[in-house]
Amino acid sequence: MTKYDVIIIGGGVSGLSCAITLGSAESKVEEASQKKTLVIDAGKSHLKMAQLYNVAGVDEGTIGIELLESLKQRAQGYKNVSVEDGVVSSVSGESGNYIVKTDADETYETDIVVFANGMQTIDVEGIGTPVVEHIRAPRPGMVMIDNEGGVIADKKYVTGCAAGAASMFSSAAGYGAQTATDIISSWVGKCTVIHDVCKKN
Ligand SMILES: Cc1cc2nc3c(=O)[nH]c(=O)nc-3n(C[C@H](O)[C@H](O)[C@H](O)COP(=O)(O)OP(=O)(O)OC[C@H]3O[C@@H](n4cnc5c(N)ncnc54)[C@H](O)[C@@H]3O)c2cc1C
Repeated sequence: MTKYDVIIIGGGVSGLSCAITLGSAESKVEEASQKKTLVIDAGKSHLKMAQLYNVAGVDEGTIGIELLESLKQRAQGYKNVSVEDGVVSSVSGESGNYIVKTDADETYETDIVVFANGMQTIDVEGIGTPVVEHIRAPRPGMVMIDNEGGVIADKKYVTGCAAGAASMFSSAAGYGAQTATDIISSWVGKCTVIHDVCKKN
């Protein structure tokens, strides 16, 4: 069984943003260069229902499903990132050696797990903290995972709407990038961000 460094549960906006930031570190941060990330996605991102007119940096009228596909392609463009279809049913084990199982009985090992399930039913055994009413969408059926600043337990993170972000593309994408930089910082041992610098001028 391949052992991953990071498994992200959910390949919507926040999960793919987290994966893209982790992937972008592979050529820039020595400690990240060999770290393998897997995204497992059930394919029900809220973005599939959206058309975007209010997202900074995104063309007005962009179709959500097309944007999601391009984020997926971008994530998979990094050599250390892969994306698979699947529904995660449980997470067991302990910090540094989590076992992630899908409802098709696939089993994966990982050092770090990130819950990026969105804000609808979060039906995974072994999260470690309760699933509660969403703090920024107090409507029937909208839930999140109880957490402290995006952390559930050691090496167990939650991001995007599942962590309590507002249901906006930028909030979810930003949270995903922040979770990735928290992980990269833990590998490096100090606060680390991943920047590309303009070479013109
Ligand atoms: C109708 C509609 C219109 C919208 N319009 C706008 C807009 O105009 N502007 C704007 O900024 N935002 C808009 N949004 C909000 C935006 O789509 C969300 O903020 C964003 O998708 C949230 O990202 P996320 O990663 O937290 O969750 P999602 O993108 O919903 O992704 C969660 C992913 O996790 C997967 N998942 C869940 N459980 C499991 C499991 N057990 N195993 C594996 N995978 C799992 C899901 O299938 C899904 O793919 C809209 C949303 C909706 C519903």
